[in-house]
This record gives sequence, C-alpha cells and structure tokens, in this order.
Amino acid sequence: MKVTDVKIRIRSGKGAVKAIVSVTLDDCFAVHGLRIIEGKTGFHVAMPSERPKISCPKCSKRNEVGSKYCHFCGFQFQAQEPSNEHRDIAHPINQETRSVIEKAVIEAYQKAAEEGGACEAPEQEQGGKRSVLGGLLGLFRSGEEG
Ligand SMILES: [Zn+2]
Repeated sequence: MKVTDVKIRIRSGKGAVKAIVSVTLDDCFAVHGLRIIEGKTGFHVAMPSERPKISCPKCSKRNEVGSKYCHFCGFQFQAQEPSNEHRDIAHPINQETRSVIEKAVIEAYQKAAEEGGACEAPEQEQGGKRSVLGGLLGLFRSGEEG
C-alpha cells in the first residue's frame, strides 16, 4: 500500500492538534479527519475517530457523552462519567501500514509548515511553483489576478 496523496490543513493556535489531514491510499481510497498532534516526543498521527454518543431519552437524538443537555431538545441528562474515549473510524491494522501513513503525513506536514501554512495563507504565492519559467509567466499573468 502507498499513500498517494496527502492534504494538510494546518491549524493555527496553541492547541496540541497541529493539522487536520486527508490521505489517499493507492490512488483509490480517501480517508479524512486524521490529526497531527504535537507531543513531547515529536509529532504523532491520530487516526480518525469519534466521541462516543448517547441517545436522548426524550427525543432519542444522539449526543456526545459528557453533554449536560440534549443538543436538540434541551433535555437535562443525569450526570455521566466523564469520558475521553474515542472510537476509531478508520485505522491501520498493522505497524507497517501505520508507519507508512505516519511517515507520509508528517513529511507532508513539515513541508506545508515550511511553506508557511499551505491552505491558510491564500494571499501569498498563488502562482505555485517558483522557477525561471514561473517568473516569466508571472509577467504575463500579472493582469489577470483577482
Ligand atoms: Zn433530546
């Protein structure tokens, strides 16, 4: 298996989550919602996951465990045990695959971070790759921006 595409959305701010990532595997399967987390030992890739849900006794809609009130009807839940448990949505089932994904994701993230935040900086360098040719093209396209 190969990671054939990685899309990085860098999160600004001081949180531990540094980026939200989508990957494409073997050009045929896309997975969204991976997160890059900065820990003490470096960057770590968290696989997509969801918080466990509970059903509201009144309207039976699903709410995140730990909610005080139903998000939909305002029903007050009884105190629940706090839970930080996440349920995996998609994840590699062996270490080899995990390494392949982590390596590709972290490399792409570091590259995006060096380039100044990829998607979050739409104002700068929209022209794409810089080269002699790019410089020449810049002369021609300066009129058509915006
Ligand atoms: Zn409800």
